Amino acid sequence: MWNWFRMVILLRQRKTIKMNKVHNFSAGPAILPQEAINAGVEALQNFANTGLSILEVSHRSKEYVAVMDEARSLVKKLWGLNDDYEVLYLQGGASTQFLMVAYNVLAKKAGYIDTGVWASKAIKEAKMFGEADVLASSKDKNYSYIPTDYQIPQDIDYLHFTSNNTIYGSQFQQFPETSVPLICDMSSDIFSRKIDATKFDLIYAGAQKNLGPAGATLVVVKKEILGKVSRQIPSMMDYNVHISKDSMFNTPPAFPVYVVLQTLKWIDRLGIDQVEARNTAKADLLYQEIDNNELFVGTVRKEDRSKMNATFLLNDDSRNEAFLAACQEANISGIKGHRSVGGFRASMYNALELDSVKALVNVMQTF
Ligand SMILES: *Cc1c(COP(=O)(O)O)cnc(C)c1O
Repeated sequence: MWNWFRMVILLRQRKTIKMNKVHNFSAGPAILPQEAINAGVEALQNFANTGLSILEVSHRSKEYVAVMDEARSLVKKLWGLNDDYEVLYLQGGASTQFLMVAYNVLAKKAGYIDTGVWASKAIKEAKMFGEADVLASSKDKNYSYIPTDYQIPQDIDYLHFTSNNTIYGSQFQQFPETSVPLICDMSSDIFSRKIDATKFDLIYAGAQKNLGPAGATLVVVKKEILGKVSRQIPSMMDYNVHISKDSMFNTPPAFPVYVVLQTLKWIDRLGIDQVEARNTAKADLLYQEIDNNELFVGTVRKEDRSKMNATFLLNDDSRNEAFLAACQEANISGIKGHRSVGGFRASMYNALELDSVKALVNVMQTF
């Protein structure tokens, strides 16, 4: 009898969830694969059949060590990296990597490409540790393109760039070619497309755009670039300290890493080619509408448009609020543009379904 009641209630809840399906275009924290969320919920109740929540077990337990090991090794597998590379899960977000990179690798002079707010914040931090030369910048046109006309000096300790500019909606379609160590903030397009990760010496990403919950930061580093600066590095800031402790120098962000692992498994099951094909289909559909619909205009040079974050304006910006209301009516969430660009931003991270983009295009067409 009671079981029967429970079933009816569960079915009714499911129906409401289905009816109110929200199309989540949030820029971050952002949409995650439903499977990853479900696995997270399960682990909150009963982690790896321990009878305990993942929130209340030791990070030194064998069950948790297995999670961390797999979360590290799966990154290497997905990118085909050998043991020259180490994978770390740290805290402090991508913003802490802005300074940690320079702390560990900037001996005298580094080169930076300035393609947006995040890139310029990385430059600001690096300047505290040495010279951070801006080799190219698209600031002159409100970061609406990716600069191509620049030289990369041979005497820099590394070149740093931001592969996808979350706020402005631009993305490197080709990566800089150089023999100096290449360092990339990949926070908002990590695992969204096939890349040759062996071309990079250090990649970092805050998890909350394309990987998992806020709180974990992924760092992938080629060991040979470390240990070359003469300054003293506090333990928590020292990549080699974290490497020597298998990313467990101190308590890791246990639950976020668990969810990141579930997302990585989802990517692994789909395959990066398939993830990329999905992302291309979504971006093509939306940009086609932006270009064909006379009410809207894109803000980024076409060849530099991001497949993750599409930024666009209404020609008549007095109708912005009305468009946002129409989106809300269609259960479309997170579409308001960042204040530095205005208008709208549709973030289409890996887990977003094509149906959600169709729903947005539909609103644009009927508006
Ligand atoms: C969001 C974002 C950041 C900042 O990440 P935090 O984890 O909040 O520090 C840095 N770089 C890029 C490209 C981002 O999208």
